[in-house]
Amino acid sequence: MLKISEIFISVQGEGPLLGRPAVFLRLAGCNLACTWCDTTYARTPRFVWDSDKTAIVLSRLLKRFSKLLVITGGEPLLQANELRKMLLKLRELVQDIEVQIETNATLSIRPIEDLVDIIVASPKLSNSGVPEKLREVHSDFIELSRKTRPILYLKFVIESEKDIEEMQRIVTRLSVPPERVYLMPQCRNIDEQLRKLPMVTKLAIKFGYCVSPRLHILARVK
Ligand code: SF4
Repeated sequence: MLKISEIFISVQGEGPLLGRPAVFLRLAGCNLACTWCDTTYARTPRFVWDSDKTAIVLSRLLKRFSKLLVITGGEPLLQANELRKMLLKLRELVQDIEVQIETNATLSIRPIEDLVDIIVASPKLSNSGVPEKLREVHSDFIELSRKTRPILYLKFVIESEKDIEEMQRIVTRLSVPPERVYLMPQCRNIDEQLRKLPMVTKLAIKFGYCVSPRLHILARVK
């Protein structure tokens, strides 16, 4: 059974697929507790469905709205085995879909690695308030950077310029090229975003990384 927080349609608000219309599956539960988490409501499930029912509902939305499915959380890899069953069924029901998963990169991606196209890993820095041991990147992600599929992107939540050194140590360890690394301001509202975006953009320019706003916050959509 899949513990689900919500299923909705919107545009991707962050990262490499910014602006793309997508169907979102937000799974419930997380193994971390970042101080600035903006999806605390996803820590407990709103409904629990089996993999077949979830796949059928998603397939209808994907056929009607967009062929991009974004799986997010919470931390979706907490339910990786059940997610595998769901994705196998979904790919039977609807062809030519693109599947992107967003993860904090602390758990194994192996159970679903062959069923996703794009992984956006967002390793947490000390600004998250999570102890270092708990936010350590899983070794699966180190091996992923040597593969051509699925494509691994990194996305970092930046609070201040001080974060860059810690972030760069992770980028080097994972061997991800700078064009697949995104910096994003830590913000939960428009004012905070507008205040921090110039600093984050200047850092991205200085170090040759990509920058991502949080479009859904600016546009006041989900
Ligand atoms: S990893 Fe993501 S969902 Fe989990 S607490 Fe941190 S920000 Fe929230």
